[in-house]
Amino acid sequence: MTPLKIEQPQGGEPWLLTPGPLSTSYSVKAAMLRDLGSWDSDFRAMTARLRATLVALLGPGGADFTCVPMQGSGSFVVEAMLGTLVPRTGKALVLANGAYGLRAAAALRQMGRAVEVLDKGDYLPPRGAEVTALLARDPSITHVIAIHCETSSGILNPLSEIAEAVAEAGRRLLVDSMSAFGAVALPKGLPFDALVSSANKCIEGVPGFGFALVRRGVLEAAQGNAHSLALDLYAQWAEFERSGQWRYTPPTHTVAAFLQALDEHNDEGGVAARGARYGANRDALVAGMRGLGFETLLADRWLSPIITTFFCPADPAFVFADFYDRMKARGFILYPGKLTVVDSFRMGHIGRFDADVMRDAVTAVGAVLNEMGVTSAAPPGAALVEKQRAEREMA
Ligand SMILES: *Cc1c(COP(=O)(O)O)cnc(C)c1O
Repeated sequence: MTPLKIEQPQGGEPWLLTPGPLSTSYSVKAAMLRDLGSWDSDFRAMTARLRATLVALLGPGGADFTCVPMQGSGSFVVEAMLGTLVPRTGKALVLANGAYGLRAAAALRQMGRAVEVLDKGDYLPPRGAEVTALLARDPSITHVIAIHCETSSGILNPLSEIAEAVAEAGRRLLVDSMSAFGAVALPKGLPFDALVSSANKCIEGVPGFGFALVRRGVLEAAQGNAHSLALDLYAQWAEFERSGQWRYTPPTHTVAAFLQALDEHNDEGGVAARGARYGANRDALVAGMRGLGFETLLADRWLSPIITTFFCPADPAFVFADFYDRMKARGFILYPGKLTVVDSFRMGHIGRFDADVMRDAVTAVGAVLNEMGVTSAAPPGAALVEKQRAEREMA
């Protein structure tokens, strides 16, 4: 394990306090300064190393899994997983508490799969007991789709109790671990068939592909399920196994950057060290923002190490678009909130930076509030009512 060197962004680039694309190391960017032939043995070896390294990140339980990278942003591999692993005669139960759960449900509907949604609103977590009840009521549900960290609010969903409920009912679990994989360890022995993530989240690569980690036997049985030619995980996997190549043009530069990012992930100390750094980032950010008078949407025990939602201040001098521009001028890119009830914004803590950068961001927030004439960062009463309701329901 080598101490992490944090480089200031080059050429006055701002820090991306966003959940991907995110700030990457200079060496990850520099790995893209070469052209690779997709058919060439060098690139095939890189693809093989990429697949093996991702399976190894699953730990001892990973022996039964295979890795299938898929071109496109994360949503492409989500769609490929759903279309390939939920058979046309199957039925999916999507556990939604934010935009990504709803997007998975929309993908299933678009491809004509039977789908039921447990919609918990903006952030309330789907609980194991609810899953048990829904599965008991509807024996035709074959698959449950869970979001590991729901990036729209930043909540870390209770994956263990969900997985237990699904396994107990004899159904199959598919996980969108897009924003968590590589920084949040999967609970030991978690029963699941597949998970997906992408190049530009916690491994700290650049955008261009996603990947699925699938139980090999499950994938072998999934031939012919897919609704789509390109987004067919089985066919993609079969080609990797047959020739070592991607079907269709691979994102060669992104793969080169990702291998460098995987080496840096390993040098840092793997999943545990990456998660610890992000957790320390969050703690520094949340403490600093609370010190300025901001409130988080979620109580501490639901905060993920990935991204945190803050309520916008009630002070009429606070205008998010203005706040955003001024933060950008100070070198920090923020992310708007996704709550439907009250105004909010998000600050990500994943990417190539540490708690010192978080403290700099908090200092910038304080200075910007002063510039804007915001005298209190306290949220409106409606936000506090919402927060109290959440804390009651989530107790
Ligand atoms: C980022 C993300 C995705 C994929 O989003 P893209 O914009 O398609 O990359 C899916 N699910 C979750 C939970 C995410 O955080």
